[in-house]
Amino acid sequence: MITTLAGGVGAARLLRGMVRVVPDGELTAVVNTGDDTILHGLHISPDLDTVCYTLSGRNDEERGWGLAGETWTVMEALEGLGGESWFRLGDRDLATHLYRTQRLAEGASLSTVTTELAARLGLGLRVLPMSDDPVRTRLTLAADGHEIGFQEYFVALAHAVPVVSVTFDGADRARPGPGVLDAIGNAEVVVVCPSNPVLSIAPILSVPGIEGALRARRGTVVAVSPIIGGAALKGPADRLLTELGGESSVLGVAHQYLEFVGTLVIDGLDASSQPSIEALGMRCVVAPTVMHGPEEAAELAKVALTAGRTG
Ligand code: GDP
Ligand code: CA
Repeated sequence: MITTLAGGVGAARLLRGMVRVVPDGELTAVVNTGDDTILHGLHISPDLDTVCYTLSGRNDEERGWGLAGETWTVMEALEGLGGESWFRLGDRDLATHLYRTQRLAEGASLSTVTTELAARLGLGLRVLPMSDDPVRTRLTLAADGHEIGFQEYFVALAHAVPVVSVTFDGADRARPGPGVLDAIGNAEVVVVCPSNPVLSIAPILSVPGIEGALRARRGTVVAVSPIIGGAALKGPADRLLTELGGESSVLGVAHQYLEFVGTLVIDGLDASSQPSIEALGMRCVVAPTVMHGPEEAAELAKVALTAGRTG
């Protein structure tokens, strides 16, 4: 069994490679739900959907989110009514949110609904929300100390505003989702995907019990750095690391993950940082980490798994 911690796009890219090198039924993704939100009365789980859409080959590669071949009839009609349309939900994507919302209203847990959706999409991996309890990522703006929700930061403000702190509302009362602690405890290797350390991985760790389960097996936990040459390939991970007092570099990622990750995989571009990372007490493997497609992702998955098995 192999378990991964996953955010959205960066994670989904690596998972596309993981499914090629891990037999069907032996791969689990524990996915961030800190980005979840209610819009139009619908429960939206962006990272769960990114993982499920990408792994079923239904994602829109160019836009970088949502489904391929999407249409926008509902959004246009909603705009005509003066409704809220800043968060773009395509017609086909809406079906997922309608399904999820109805099942939740019937009393099903988010884990159950996710298992149902993953089965209907024909996924060969197990997808587990980090928690069935609500945990909501919130950010405090540097400009005026105002606190905003994740989607307001990420989508409405296009993450173009400096922040001074990030909190995970509800985390103290949240329990790990069913199967999450076992998946972490029993896996041969745990891989922390190249996801945003602050917005995708930190919320997973904020659920009581999860970080402890990782620390207990630190030697066989491997992370792939989402930072390459000091920058994120996409999104605000680099800026957030700096704004929150860290460093936008592979060394900054190593510091962030030091307590629960035994090996960090960094890109060849950052090879010169290998000795400083190892000096921290973290093993460091250098490999190509930019995934243009599933073949490169599979190679990177193999590197991460090998590092974990020898950890
Ligand atoms: P989000 O929830 O959709 O924002 O996605 P994630 O948190 O999973 O991933 C965002 C991070 O993925 C960014 O920091 C990117 O730098 C990183 N990322 C995206 N593609 C790649 C890739 O091919 N290789 C590596 N190493 N990181 C990537
Ligand atoms: Ca996300």
